[in-house]
Amino acid sequence: MRNSVAPLFAVFVFAISALIGSRCADEKTSGIAVVKTPPFAGGNRHYVSNRTPLLGSPLVKLPIGSVEPKGWLLGQLRLMRDGFTGRLAEISRFLKDDSGWITLKGKGWEEVPYWLKGYGDLGYILKDQEIISKAKRWLELALKSQRSDGYFGPVDNGESHDLWPNMVMLFALRSRHEATGDARVLPFMTRYFHYENDLPDGELLPGSWQKLRGGDNLEVVYWLYNRTGEGFLLDLGRRLHERTSDWTSSVLSDQRDKNWEESSFYHGVNITMGIREPGTYYQQAKDRTLIDAVEANYKQVMEAYGRQPGGMFGADENIRPGYGDPRQGAETCSMVEFMSSFESLLKITGDTRYADRCEEIAFNSLPASMTPDLKGLHYLTAPNLISCDSTGEHDFQNGGTLVSYDPWSYRCCQHNVAFGWPYFAEHLWMGTSDDGLAAALYAPSVVTARVGDGAEIRISEDTAYPFGDVIDFTMGTAKPAEFPFYLRIPSWWDGGSVSLNGEALKADPRPGEYLVIRRKWQDGDRLRLEFRPRIMVQTWPTIGNSVSVRRGPLWYSLKIGEQWRRYGGTDEWPALELLPTTAWNYGLVVDPLDPAATIRIESRKEPIDQPFEPEASPIVLRARARKIPSWTAEGRMVGKVPPGPVATDAAMEEITLIPMGCARLRISSFPLVKKRWR
Ligand SMILES: [Zn+2]
Repeated sequence: MRNSVAPLFAVFVFAISALIGSRCADEKTSGIAVVKTPPFAGGNRHYVSNRTPLLGSPLVKLPIGSVEPKGWLLGQLRLMRDGFTGRLAEISRFLKDDSGWITLKGKGWEEVPYWLKGYGDLGYILKDQEIISKAKRWLELALKSQRSDGYFGPVDNGESHDLWPNMVMLFALRSRHEATGDARVLPFMTRYFHYENDLPDGELLPGSWQKLRGGDNLEVVYWLYNRTGEGFLLDLGRRLHERTSDWTSSVLSDQRDKNWEESSFYHGVNITMGIREPGTYYQQAKDRTLIDAVEANYKQVMEAYGRQPGGMFGADENIRPGYGDPRQGAETCSMVEFMSSFESLLKITGDTRYADRCEEIAFNSLPASMTPDLKGLHYLTAPNLISCDSTGEHDFQNGGTLVSYDPWSYRCCQHNVAFGWPYFAEHLWMGTSDDGLAAALYAPSVVTARVGDGAEIRISEDTAYPFGDVIDFTMGTAKPAEFPFYLRIPSWWDGGSVSLNGEALKADPRPGEYLVIRRKWQDGDRLRLEFRPRIMVQTWPTIGNSVSVRRGPLWYSLKIGEQWRRYGGTDEWPALELLPTTAWNYGLVVDPLDPAATIRIESRKEPIDQPFEPEASPIVLRARARKIPSWTAEGRMVGKVPPGPVATDAAMEEITLIPMGCARLRISSFPLVKKRWR
């Protein structure tokens, strides 16, 4: 009876099914449907959507300020404000008065715009007037620097035709416009894009980083086009795509393998940014093979270097052929850029897989890149990482300290990490092309938005997610408002329930779909989404049959005793090593097909403002394990996971597993212990 539709809602369901195919989840409650994506046709009446001839937008970003984080996510943003992002000007040598972004002469590259891109958004989300006014001071200078030909920014970059730093500054200006309506931004960008469009081909993205990262420029060109409709922007869009490095063909190749150290295509950050470029251009070209290219490259990179939990792939500067195991780190810049790519692809395609990928990084990898007080960070984070020392006794492409936590070092990441959490928060909720709302990424928050015929509604999302399994949405509206409410069903969905005002709704969504509930929503309506994730064990056949433990959106790591030790910096801004105080060389005793037999939830508690540290772990698992004496460190680096199943005579022990994001020292890919029949 899945195809039967009650007449009252036939038009709605028909409209969706005609476009993308839908299933009616409940013949009695026909306001519920399940769909793969919101429709592409139409266009949100209340928020700027893609303008024709660009592809329609299934999801539309709400203006900054629409989403107010709560709970642990608000905790992250407040810690950022009080930590090195909010106070970076005190310690970064790139944010001083001699910066080319202030003097407008001399050198000023990516660092200032990297930081401003997140710093400004942090202020707008927190409605923090001090941050907003400090960000404005920098942005005023960028606006003031514009020449009569449209170019802006430090003179040096202009003379070398390096558009890369400006690409990042454009994001900061985009946010300024979204958050404050600053009327200068659109004409400023228009003049700048005229400048770009007047450049001869040889001077438009001639080479280096800007050529690999031209997709970032393209994204803002479309943002402006949707607001002004000026045709030259589409010409520029086509030229930028043609002049940007080719991300439609395979990232990995035998030729590049031979020259891996030199290949900019093998740089982790370039990959995490560049991989989405064909998806961005898809909006103009409307050629589905461009999305296929994004997916082919994601698959290729992850199969070769991403056989590990946490959503990242090993590229400790560049991808290194032969170094695909979970000891290889991912740069902090790569994490926030990969998250941002998935946020963009989610908007463009409506496809929930991108939300899953974004959450996986946000919850499991990003938190461990910073100290719990967000006053220091490191360059590389790896799923198996047993010592965050400053010795450099690690086998990475770069020498020197890369894993110790230091607010002074790590030039790019120190500035660029600023936009990770703010952008994540801004994309929790999105408008849909049929004037509804989608809960696209889940975290405690409140959204205020216009829906349906224009009613303003306010939905409170109360949840301990990703640590909890229940999400409560409470509607606030001055008068009843009819609109479709989309709930993302994650890829790890393993059954669950949805109820409205205490009454179970008959719905049977599949992983990767949206559940859509269209009705006349009343003030106080309460929608509850409940997940029933099981403890799962993922086997990594190409990584020595190692195993990782997952439950819902979280991966789990061995809890290792921590010793924090200052080795530099100042009392206010210390540089810290994090050293292990307990054993880490455990193999897991588990049947991957029946993990519940040996792994159980030991305790649960509500997340506090900073849940991402071992003692604050809101959910703790217990598992069985045996030590593997032959598994030892190589220098300060964890040894390769020994191929399993591994025989060991060591005694059976119970070990504690905590969410990967709570563990800065961690084993997340374990050897599998050989089963003993006695
Ligand atoms: Zn970096």
